[in-house]
Amino acid sequence: MARTHISGFPRIGAQRELKFAQESFWRGDNDEHALRSVARELRTRHWRLQQDAGLDFISVGDFAYYDPMLTLSALLGALPPRFGFDPATLSLAQYYELARGNAAQPAMEMTKWFDTNYHYLVPELGPQTSFDGGVEWLFDELDEALALNVPVKPVLIGPVTYLWLSKSHVAGFDRLSLLPKLVIRYSRILQKLKQRGVEWVQLDEPALCADLPAPWLEAFSAVYDVLGTSDVKVLLATYFDSAAEHAQRVARLPIAGVHVDLVRAPQQLDAWRAALPAHAVLSAGVIDGRNIWRADLRAIVESLRDLHAELGERLWIAPSCSLQHVPVSLATEQKLDADLKSWLAFATEKLDEVGTLALALHDPATAEPQLAAADLALEARRHSSAVVNALVQKRVAAVSDAMAERHSPFAERNRLQRETLDLPLLPTTTIGSFPQTASIRQARAAYKRGELRALDYLQRMRAEIEFAVRKQEALGLDVLVHGEAERNDMVEYFGEQLWGYAFTENGWVQSYGSRCVKPPIIYGDVYRPEPITVDTTRYAQSLTPRVMKGMLTGPVTMLQWSFVRNDQPRSTTALQLALAIRDEVMDLEKAGIRVIQIDEPAFREGLPLRKHDWAAYLEWATRVFRISAAGVGDRTQIHTHMCYSEFNDILPSIAAMDADVITIETSRSAMELLDGFGAFAYPNEIGPGVYDIHSPRVPSAQAMQRLLERACEVIPAERLWVNPDCGLKTRGWPETEAALTNMVRAAKALRAKLAARQPELTR
Ligand code: GLN
Ligand code: ZN
Repeated sequence: MARTHISGFPRIGAQRELKFAQESFWRGDNDEHALRSVARELRTRHWRLQQDAGLDFISVGDFAYYDPMLTLSALLGALPPRFGFDPATLSLAQYYELARGNAAQPAMEMTKWFDTNYHYLVPELGPQTSFDGGVEWLFDELDEALALNVPVKPVLIGPVTYLWLSKSHVAGFDRLSLLPKLVIRYSRILQKLKQRGVEWVQLDEPALCADLPAPWLEAFSAVYDVLGTSDVKVLLATYFDSAAEHAQRVARLPIAGVHVDLVRAPQQLDAWRAALPAHAVLSAGVIDGRNIWRADLRAIVESLRDLHAELGERLWIAPSCSLQHVPVSLATEQKLDADLKSWLAFATEKLDEVGTLALALHDPATAEPQLAAADLALEARRHSSAVVNALVQKRVAAVSDAMAERHSPFAERNRLQRETLDLPLLPTTTIGSFPQTASIRQARAAYKRGELRALDYLQRMRAEIEFAVRKQEALGLDVLVHGEAERNDMVEYFGEQLWGYAFTENGWVQSYGSRCVKPPIIYGDVYRPEPITVDTTRYAQSLTPRVMKGMLTGPVTMLQWSFVRNDQPRSTTALQLALAIRDEVMDLEKAGIRVIQIDEPAFREGLPLRKHDWAAYLEWATRVFRISAAGVGDRTQIHTHMCYSEFNDILPSIAAMDADVITIETSRSAMELLDGFGAFAYPNEIGPGVYDIHSPRVPSAQAMQRLLERACEVIPAERLWVNPDCGLKTRGWPETEAALTNMVRAAKALRAKLAARQPELTR
């Protein structure tokens, strides 16, 4: 019979128990002992769920008090020396200082885990890194799991991926030179696992699905030539894309098995099947670890039948990747529509799916009821009238290339917009949100609990809008915003007003550390039944003679931060979102709003892992953005905003979005990014963020002016805007006012300086 396992289970707990325990530990409300006991309880609960589902192994090593990469750094003994911690005696408090910073040291850098929305802590390595070993929490957890008397399979991030994702601040240092020492440490860990009676270890090498340069591929072989001959059996796990081109290389290694992602890359099965040595295990990742839909179990069983006949016990069945990317359980969802609920599978339900698949291959009759239930749900979903909306289908079919084009090219629009908007040189603006104060959050919570009537809530929000408008007028900003008081989460805010979207009560997914997000579910054709922001924006404009900027979330970001349909291409869902936003954009224009910002902070994170897939993504992603924006007349100015700085490799696509103005993050990289925009000769207007909103620090007007002057060296001043890096919702008013005062002062000072030098320079 095929064997079953998972790569990892969400560690946060169905009720986000780990988050709350962590946060009260940070506040000093509970001690280490209390936090550890919550963690132990969660691990045990999650192992029992795996046991109950009949899996052949329970997974250990997927738990982390903050992040598995950080925990691995602590286990290997590779902590940033700047903290001065001894890895062998690291306390939990110190572990959290690494993750969150302390008075003397900024936190370790955090970045996205491949193309997911999960963030890991980037190992900081250098010539001095020794991998002499550190805290062995893994072995304590292993002992807990062994006490349950079921086979345990530890899971660790593999050495190549660990090193690939690390960084060194020492110029010219080659991280690969650390490999020999790293391999010795891994060998010791494997030995020690063997001593505890472990038979299988899973080493995750998703880096094999990225574009690994040749020396790294060679390193890969060198590493596994050694680790493969240790006494435990190594299951090498790849996921998030195809690793088929490396099948031959992997097959030559002395490893005992390979896991492949057959959800993202089903086409790779043949290559692996052909390459697999006679003794090796093939773990088929057939249940989607990245999305929440119930699987087509019968189709999967059919696709595996031959393979099962060939491999027997050597076929393993698993989710495609760790289940940490989906919520814990459907059991606590009381409000979800019953039909929709029956189409879903969260982590706990996916365990059962894995179990059912193995059973169905071995004993079809016994598994038949479960297969039939899955068939029924799938059939219902396929024909549901909640999914298909004829109107949307018709609109999508009628989309023409012309809808993606503004009437006139940028130069002509720009001339007309300057006439209409009459802004000074270096116009000042903000990115949209102003501080979400306690009173705003209380009002929203009261409204959601039904304690505040809709009209009263509306009044409260209007008062907040007026407050923000008056503040901006007093600060002397040129293009104002309403401040987004009514928005908690930008995707949720729009999703709640659109058809085709559903929201869970407890569908939390860890984003990083204790931070969780609750991505909405797009289950059907997306449609905007009525205007969403028009009343609010019109009200805000009515308060002031200055230009009021409307504020929307773009189609790519709406897509990227939701669980999306798997019954149509992502690009089709994005197009439906684009049409909904286009309607909103046009209604805003009709209501007299002359500047409209369509935020796309998630545009870059949608990029596929492999470069050869980028072009196709960028093609449809820029197109749907243009469709959302291009319905307006030339005089209406479209802005977009992206809050990160790694743009240089996609600049032509950013330009192809053809927004009249783009605001971006640059202050943390001290305007380095602009070199790219300068070299590429970015054609439209641009607002490089002149201060970092992630920190409460208030930069001086001089510092901001210096940044602007650097920007002027690469972008002509006539095309520059002045704004912060991102929205201000996480900041307080005092620092916001202080920083914006300085920002406006910097813009005015530079205007005066430029006017003295080049009097002909105007907008
Ligand atoms: N307009 C949004 C805000 O100001 C943009 C948020 C973002 O870029 N993530 O909050
Ligand atoms: Zn931003």
